[in-house]
Amino acid sequence: MIGFELTDEQRMLQQTARDFAASHIAPCAERIRRAEDGIDPWQEVRPVFLRAAELGFTNLLIPEEHGGVGGSALDHVLIMEELGAADHGIASTYLNISATAPLIILHGGTDAQREAWLPEIAAADDFVLASASSEPDVAGADSFCPSPDPRIGLKSTARREGDEYVLNGAKSGFSTNAGAARGYFVMARTDLSKPARESTAMFFVPADTPGLKVGRRTRLSGWETACQAEVILEDVRIPAGRRVGGEGSDAGMIFFRILPYLASGFAATFVGLARAAFDLAFAYAHERVSWGQPIIEHQAVSLKLADMAVEIEAARLMVWRAAAAADTGDPRAGMLYAPAAKTMAVDTAIRCAERAMKILGSYGITREYPAARMLNDAWIGDSCDGTRDVLRLNIIQAMRMAAAGGPPPGH
Ligand SMILES: Cc1cc2nc3c(=O)[nH]c(=O)nc-3n(C[C@H](O)[C@H](O)[C@H](O)COP(=O)(O)OP(=O)(O)OC[C@H]3O[C@@H](n4cnc5c(N)ncnc54)[C@H](O)[C@@H]3O)c2cc1C
Repeated sequence: MIGFELTDEQRMLQQTARDFAASHIAPCAERIRRAEDGIDPWQEVRPVFLRAAELGFTNLLIPEEHGGVGGSALDHVLIMEELGAADHGIASTYLNISATAPLIILHGGTDAQREAWLPEIAAADDFVLASASSEPDVAGADSFCPSPDPRIGLKSTARREGDEYVLNGAKSGFSTNAGAARGYFVMARTDLSKPARESTAMFFVPADTPGLKVGRRTRLSGWETACQAEVILEDVRIPAGRRVGGEGSDAGMIFFRILPYLASGFAATFVGLARAAFDLAFAYAHERVSWGQPIIEHQAVSLKLADMAVEIEAARLMVWRAAAAADTGDPRAGMLYAPAAKTMAVDTAIRCAERAMKILGSYGITREYPAARMLNDAWIGDSCDGTRDVLRLNIIQAMRMAAAGGPPPGH
C-alpha cells in the first residue's frame, strides 16, 4: 500500500518546524554571517538548539522507553527539509547529526549502554553530538575500506590497558560540531597490525575527558554557521565500557545501520536548500523586468524554474521513500534508498542553486542575494559524510552483492 498524504500530526509537525525555522534559524544564521570574522557560531546557535530541543526535534528518534519522543524517520525528514530551507549549515550539522547519532547507541550499544546514555541525552537540552572518524593523512574513502592490507585505514589507536582504553591520534579538521559537542563518537584502531576491518572500533567519549582537545577550526566556503575543527586525542583514558560494539567490523556495521536515518536526514536538508533556491529564483523572476515584461515570461527562464520544481519533487519522494524504508527496517534503506536519496538531493541542490544564480543574472554572484552562498552550501554535500562518487560506488557494490546471491537491494 503506497500513501503520499501526510497525516494531520505530520502536517502540524511540518508547520511547527517551518515556523521555528523562520523565527529562530534564519535570523540566527543572518547574525552569524553579519558578524565579524572569528565569531564562534555555536555561541549564537546554542539558544536555537535549546529551542529545537524543547520542540522535541533533537531527541525525536530516541524511543520513548529511553526518554525520547519515539518519532519516525519520516517525521525527522519532514523537519529537516524545513530547517534546511532556512539555513543549511545549522540544520545539517548541530541538528541532523545530534538527532541521528543517538541511534549509534540504540543500534550498536549494549542494554547497559542504552539505559545509561540514552535517557541522559534525551533529557538534556544541549546534547550536541559529533563523530570524529576522518584523519588528515587518511583518505576519507579508506575509513571503511575492506582491504586486508593493515596499512590501509585509520591511524588513531585505542590501546587496551586493563579495564580501560587509551586513545591517541589526530582527527581531521572536518570533525563537525567539534567544540560544541558534549559527546564524540571516535573511531580508532585497536591493533594497527591487523586489517582495519578487524581492528576499527567505536568509542563514545565525553567532551570533557582529559586529553581530548579541540584544535584549529576549519573555515569552509559554505556552512558559515557550522563548526568544523580538528579533534586531538592525547592519552585519552576511557573505561572499556565506552566501546560501542565489538573491536572488529562492528564500527562499519553500526555506521551502516544508522545510515538510513543520517543520510535521509542530510538528504532532506538538501531538498530544503534546493527549495529555498527555487523560492528565491521564482520571486526574482516575477520582479525583474526585461523587454517590457517580468523575466518569468521568457521561456528560457520559466523552463529553468520548471526543471527545478521537477527535480525537487523527485528528490523529496526519494527522501520520503528512504525514510519510510528506515522506519520498516527494510535492508534496502541503507544499501540503496538512503544513499540514492542523498546523491539525488545533493545533485538537485547544486543544480537548483546554479540555476538560481543564472536567473538572478549579475545579482546572483553578489552577497546581497543568497544564491552564491546556496551553491557553496550545496557543494558541501559532494564530500561530507562520504563523497557522492563513493556513495554511488557503494550502491553498485550492494547491487553486485545481491546479484551474487546476497540480500536484494531492490531495483
Ligand atoms: C563539510 C564536511 C563535514 C564533515 N564532517 C565530518 C565529521 O563530522 N566527522 C568525520 O569524521 N569526517 C567528516 N568529514 C570528512 C568526510 O567524511 C570526508 O571528507 C569524506 O569522506 C571525503 O574524504 P576525503 O576528503 O579524504 O576524500 P578522499 O577519500 O581523499 O577522496 C578524494 C577524491 O577521490 C575519490 N575517491 C577516493 N577513493 C575512491 C575510490 N575508492 N573509488 C572512487 N573514487 C574515489 C573521491 O570520490 C573524491 O573525489 C566531513 C567533510 C566535510 C567536507
